[in-house]
Amino acid sequence: MSLQVNDQMQQVPFVDLKAQYQTIKDEIDTAITEVLTNTNFILGQAVADFESDFAAYCGTHFAIGVDSGLSALELVLRAYGIGPGDEVITAANTFIATALAISSVGATPILVDIDPATYLLDVVRVECAIGPYTKAIMPVHLYGHVADMDPITELAHRHNLKVIEDASQAHGARYKGRRVGGLGDAAAFSLYPAKNLGAYGDAGIIVTDDAEVAEQVRLLRNYGSIQKYHHEVAGFNRRLDTLHAAVLRVKLQKLDQWNTARRCHANRYRKLLDGCGIGFPTESQHEEAVYHLFVIEVDARDELQRHLTTRGISSVIHYPIPLHLQPAYQHLGYSKGDFPITERTCERILSLPIYPELSDTQIDHVVQAVHSFMFEANYQSYVPTLATNQSL
Ligand SMILES: *Cc1c(COP(=O)(O)O)cnc(C)c1O
Repeated sequence: MSLQVNDQMQQVPFVDLKAQYQTIKDEIDTAITEVLTNTNFILGQAVADFESDFAAYCGTHFAIGVDSGLSALELVLRAYGIGPGDEVITAANTFIATALAISSVGATPILVDIDPATYLLDVVRVECAIGPYTKAIMPVHLYGHVADMDPITELAHRHNLKVIEDASQAHGARYKGRRVGGLGDAAAFSLYPAKNLGAYGDAGIIVTDDAEVAEQVRLLRNYGSIQKYHHEVAGFNRRLDTLHAAVLRVKLQKLDQWNTARRCHANRYRKLLDGCGIGFPTESQHEEAVYHLFVIEVDARDELQRHLTTRGISSVIHYPIPLHLQPAYQHLGYSKGDFPITERTCERILSLPIYPELSDTQIDHVVQAVHSFMFEANYQSYVPTLATNQSL
């Protein structure tokens, strides 16, 4: 009997890249076959084509494909000449790659706490963190929400700082009608498979209107060379593979439609979960978020996650340990209590499944499971009171 129930239990994976591939299989297979036929695997035509498509999509003059999101962030910093002795300000609640890019060029990540409503970089705290060695601000458009860019860029201009967007979770998101990527001096995107726009392996891209930075990144990703065996600078091998570019060109055409589906799912979650004692990051009036993740905030987070797991529902914590408490960054000298909002948030957040192909039935299954947990949690907190009274 219970086996039967299990068999019928609806499984809700966290993401489903197989489902997405099935919807675009013919176009992807054709694009891959074309690359295999031409065998132009390194900086082939598809790379240049994807770069111009993506620049047009973001509304920027230039786009340069690289081998990962981390490389994209790192090469932008190098192109601006940021290195040892310099400081770059970023959010304490982000994926570690944001900070790793800064430390990998020899600069120091200066972390600041997040805004408790949006979970994003708080401009008031950024201003307090600016010092004589600050060279850049790196806002992160976390979860697909856009950081409040106008006050950030205004602050940067006043202090002569670069603004480098980490747009790795927000491909296609808009701020006051403009797409992320074109909101600062330069932007880096990860094209990791599970991102809103993802390759079939590691990939990344940089966009900018700055011709000099574009030229520098182009050199740095390819051994410091434009003409073969002529090396202008000591570069790296960080190129975007032709195969990935061919896949990404196909997927870019679907991105808006996929983002619309994500927004639709987020709306359904919000509507159905409203009033059951759960918090969400605010979607501000000037943004159109693209819900790379659907994050909720709740008291008994770990118990809720276990409750969902037993009902076949996957969930993930983004991120369980803030950067300043990671062993890798002990040398920065931060300690527990330095970023109270980030720390409290990390203990309470949970990301529910969201991806374009998710069905309403699956969302409803997740919502029901959350509701049943919230009911049980309230019931349990009521029972001990009764027990105490009885023992008196
Ligand atoms: C995914 C991600 C990165 C790093 O991208 P990779 O392609 O994995 O190197 C950087 N920053 C943020 C916010 C990310 O989500």
